[in-house]
Amino acid sequence: MEGVSPPPSARATLASMKIDTADVAVIGLGAVGSAVLYQLARRGVRAVGLDRFAPPHMMGSSHGESRITRLTAGEGEIYVPLVRRSHEIWRELEAATGASLMRTTGGLFIAPAKSAAKHHGAANFVAASAEIARRFDIPYEMLSPDEVMRRYPQMVLRGDEVAIHEPSAGTLFPEACVRAQLSEAQRLGAMVRTDEPVLGVTETSGVVRIETAHGVIEAGQAVITAGPWIAALAGSAMAERTRVYRQVLQWFPCDDPTAFAPERFPVFIWMYGQHDSDYLYGFPAFDGRDIKLATEFFEVPTTADTVNRSVTPAESRAMHDRHVAGRLNGVPREASRAQVCLYTVTPDSRFIVDRLPGHDCVAAVSACSGHGFKHSAGLGEAIAQWVLTGASAIDLAPFRLS
Ligand SMILES: Cc1cc2nc3c(=O)[nH]c(=O)nc-3n(C[C@H](O)[C@H](O)[C@H](O)COP(=O)(O)OP(=O)(O)OC[C@H]3O[C@@H](n4cnc5c(N)ncnc54)[C@H](O)[C@@H]3O)c2cc1C
Repeated sequence: MEGVSPPPSARATLASMKIDTADVAVIGLGAVGSAVLYQLARRGVRAVGLDRFAPPHMMGSSHGESRITRLTAGEGEIYVPLVRRSHEIWRELEAATGASLMRTTGGLFIAPAKSAAKHHGAANFVAASAEIARRFDIPYEMLSPDEVMRRYPQMVLRGDEVAIHEPSAGTLFPEACVRAQLSEAQRLGAMVRTDEPVLGVTETSGVVRIETAHGVIEAGQAVITAGPWIAALAGSAMAERTRVYRQVLQWFPCDDPTAFAPERFPVFIWMYGQHDSDYLYGFPAFDGRDIKLATEFFEVPTTADTVNRSVTPAESRAMHDRHVAGRLNGVPREASRAQVCLYTVTPDSRFIVDRLPGHDCVAAVSACSGHGFKHSAGLGEAIAQWVLTGASAIDLAPFRLS
């Protein structure tokens, strides 16, 4: 198999190490890997999860305190069963762990009535979301620009927009979600090995050999869920189909935090122009002070190992000038803090879930393109079912490499 092989010096050390075994190894324990491991453990599988860091951490794609979740998946109807099942799983996990994982604030999605812009690969995103709502019986309201501004006077619309409000939309708390799934996986018997980079994965005669910085594991199957590192670990099939892009999350203190409190202010997606980059999304002020705002960048690909992880005040001001000013009242120009996060993007923004070419026992998953978190719990369950039985309750066929 292609991918990263350990250097000769590491091989010599590895040769003298004890070999551990597992039925299934999950490589990478972010949103997707922690969900797969938890679901394998629920099924009594002898599973091991490995991560190069100690999740939840700030190096991949699953940090930044909040993620939008919405049932009206304008990206396509294939995602609706995944997000519906995910909402059920988050609530089950909350009951099991006592952690707060999801807050339903409602979601507001706005776009010009006529725009060529696409969002996560979908044209006419707001109209597509409304169509999904109708088809899947998801409660929603269409709002006129005046009605949006009446309900949310913090927002300034032009008057030529369409908007959909989904009461069931809200926020996931990503670090808490990852933590809850890993702790439940461990409680149910899975082994979690952190700060243990996987150096190479090979498959021979139905045995997967995983060489790590600390030893060797032989497993019946492996699932590579390495997020923005997927190309380095899973070889050319994933490298050819994915690009990594630097994204920036910004927190701005609001003049009147009560106006942006989660009881009064929704999560929102706001496409305000004719280009994909005319785009702003945000969250209520969960901490009673700052709202988190962001746009999306797809211009210059990067890698998880080389990306610039610092954000200057000038970069935050430029983001405010271009995307926030004139649209949100009461949000001053100076950010209180910012974080860099990574999108792993496929050409059509669809997820990839498949066995690697030429392999019967090694699967790779890329479920990002900027919209994967909300689906990750349900996707983890479907992947666990598929790995164990060859089939899953939710169809994963649309995500095959072919
Ligand atoms: C800024 C931003 C905003 C987003 N907003 C939303 C949103 O509002 N709604 C939504 O649904 N989605 C959103 N997403 C997308 C969502 O967060 C991602 O789809 C999801 O986090 C992807 O998780 P992952 O498990 O694939 O990757 P990651 O969380 O990055 O996990 C990969 C893991 O693999 C580990 N790893 C990598 N290489 C190795 C190795 N060699 N050995 C061992 N371990 C390894 C890493 O350490 C990491 O922990 C957003 C993403 C970003 C970046």
